[in-house]
Amino acid sequence: MLKIDCATKDIKILGIELSRLCNFDCTMCNQIHLSQKSELKEKIWRQTLKPLYRNILALSIMGGEITFSKNCRNFVSFIVTDHPHIKISTSTNGALFDNSWQEIFLKKGNDVNFSINASNREAYKKINKADFFSQVAFNLGSLIEKRNNAKSPLRISASFVILNENFLDIDDFIELCLAKKVDAIYFKCDSYAILPKKNQERIIKLNQTFQKYSLLLDKNIIVGLREFSKIWSKGPKGVNGYKYSPSNSFCREPWQSLYINTLGDVSFCCHAKKIGNIYRESLNYIWCGKKARVFREAVKNNDYKYCSRSCQQYKIPDNTKTMPAWKKNFEMLGNYLPKAPIPTLEAALRYAGRKLGSLK
Ligand code: SF4
Ligand code: SF4
Repeated sequence: MLKIDCATKDIKILGIELSRLCNFDCTMCNQIHLSQKSELKEKIWRQTLKPLYRNILALSIMGGEITFSKNCRNFVSFIVTDHPHIKISTSTNGALFDNSWQEIFLKKGNDVNFSINASNREAYKKINKADFFSQVAFNLGSLIEKRNNAKSPLRISASFVILNENFLDIDDFIELCLAKKVDAIYFKCDSYAILPKKNQERIIKLNQTFQKYSLLLDKNIIVGLREFSKIWSKGPKGVNGYKYSPSNSFCREPWQSLYINTLGDVSFCCHAKKIGNIYRESLNYIWCGKKARVFREAVKNNDYKYCSRSCQQYKIPDNTKTMPAWKKNFEMLGNYLPKAPIPTLEAALRYAGRKLGSLK
């Protein structure tokens, strides 16, 4: 095995999930907020992770909804005050992204994404199960206006998970985002990996969208729509060749990035297999331990067996052509499987409900 040097000072990117609580209950969310009230303990982010902050350049705060959790607010205040060189990114539903959060991100933010998923109030209520469409639109507009006035480098985007409920609203959502002057518009698949139903009307509509916004797609102002279409229009076969990249480059996250969730599980990113637990093991032990080294060695050899197939950087193995059919099918279908194992009965029931709904 190759010797791979490592030291925790190499960690430049930190992803941290401080709480899974959320003020919404979106239909496509795979987090069951009521039964998973766990939060990452303050002792961990304040003391255990202390040696990291000096070298961290980018911090991504994940949730849950960061504006809804006291733990998140305390953590953000701590970072802004004690480690002001760190730039923060997050995704929010935007309902509580008020003046105080806006000020923090205007000064210390790299990126903020507003997860909206609808172009109007009625669709918004159905999908996000909350009646905050006007408030979110207002907060987004106000943040963009302040960002422009302050000439802050903060990048502001909006996102839309493509579902049966909103499929025909894609153009209207793009128009809404253009009117607000966001920097990027992200389209994503359902986190249960359930694709919307396919029919002639939708295929024609999506083709029209591609024609209408081809320039914005080419400029990467609209992101993810072409990728969605490749998977959605062709079915599993479309995944092959789309995900596999024959280049020799490999993912760099295992050498520079660390992700910690509310349970203390540590991995190189939110899509990778865990390499330890911060409640039971030291940072050094995890970062330089056997699991981390084996993971790095695999990725260096273009073997992504410890990574989720839903990761954009995941590579289908080079030997797909020579694989037995069942294994090849699994590789190609992997992208459609739920990202994480379904942990509770509540989550399993929700998944079954969404699956049945998608077949109607
Ligand atoms: S806002 Fe995000 S975290 Fe909250 S329920 Fe919706 S998808 Fe889940
Ligand atoms: S390939 Fe994806 S899942 Fe694997 S380490 Fe890189 S970013 Fe994480």
